[in-house]
Amino acid sequence: MLRIQTQDRVLLGPGPSSVYPEVLKAMATPLVGHLDPYFLEVMTDMQSKLRRVFQTENELTLAMSGTGSAGMETVFVNLLEPGDKVLIGICGVFGERMKDVAERCGAEVITVRADWGESIAPEQVEAVLRSTNGITAVALVHAETSTGVRQPLEEISRLTHEYGALFIVDAVTSLGGIPVEIDRLDIDACYSGTQKCLGAPPGLAPVTLNNAALERVRSRKTKVQSWYLDLNMVANYWGQERFYHHTAPISMVFALHEALSLLLDEGLENSFARHARNGELLQQGLESMGLELFAAQGYRLPELTSVVFPDRYDEGQLRKRLLDEYNIEVGAGLGPLKGKAWRIGLMGHSSSLANVTLLLQAMTELMGE
Ligand SMILES: *Cc1c(COP(=O)(O)O)cnc(C)c1O
Repeated sequence: MLRIQTQDRVLLGPGPSSVYPEVLKAMATPLVGHLDPYFLEVMTDMQSKLRRVFQTENELTLAMSGTGSAGMETVFVNLLEPGDKVLIGICGVFGERMKDVAERCGAEVITVRADWGESIAPEQVEAVLRSTNGITAVALVHAETSTGVRQPLEEISRLTHEYGALFIVDAVTSLGGIPVEIDRLDIDACYSGTQKCLGAPPGLAPVTLNNAALERVRSRKTKVQSWYLDLNMVANYWGQERFYHHTAPISMVFALHEALSLLLDEGLENSFARHARNGELLQQGLESMGLELFAAQGYRLPELTSVVFPDRYDEGQLRKRLLDEYNIEVGAGLGPLKGKAWRIGLMGHSSSLANVTLLLQAMTELMGE
């Protein structure tokens, strides 16, 4: 009979990342009821911690049950109605996923695209906003995990509001690793996940909406098509009313609460600096081994690096040996990078000098043979 066994992997892929031991311990806390006064206190405290991490005052800040994709779906199903026009920036897998989700809401999706490895330019967005009437939302991926590209947001946020649309941001791989400044950048709706730079297992999706976004949800002409993700109801469970909607995944709430506590203890700025330093070290190390970084210079994420191998290497074989012999997991390339590149994550607890050193040493050994 197969039993669950500890594998002691070092998780340096595109997520999940290695979980903080304190978080694993929090998950093993005996359950309380989901309406137990203690649990409600933990939920409320977690919301205020999430606000600090999102750098927002937004009242509607909570964690949806489900992974990052549930966060994506929450934002789209609540903000879009059939026939709405939404502009989506696509330069990798997760931009494509947003398009798919928005289309399933019955929205009319208009896309702007950049090559994989590049980011969306403000001029591209402005051109569409100028030539197309009635765009109600613009959506971008902040940290494109399929390429390792960081998407600048400030200018596009300004343009989006100039044309009266809502600005939606995917911060699944950015939250905790690089600044996600909801209020300063005037991001109307944003979602994230727990298993990337927050150092918890997959299972919850932090979501935040400002008043403009909330107003859009409240003034819908049609019901939100998903019962489970309807923020009108979910917010009543997290808010003052504590109205039962669905049972919160209690152990995951404990886990995320502990992960956020660790992050805030470290300090957001310190966490960003740690991610930046380790990402830089890894990228320098890879380049000095003669390998090519895929993401455009100046737009590289510290927490996710895509690195391209010369043809003489079989990346699949190397990746398998890295796992079998060194217990290190990295991610395969997607799309145009399939069979050619790795995606290396240094996220949350995984972002450490020890892991950078370990990986570079292992690669040197494997590639030298
Ligand atoms: C991982 C990821 C998602 C999806 O999250 P899941 O937890 O896998 O559902 C969405 N967007 C980005 C940018 C991601 O990296």
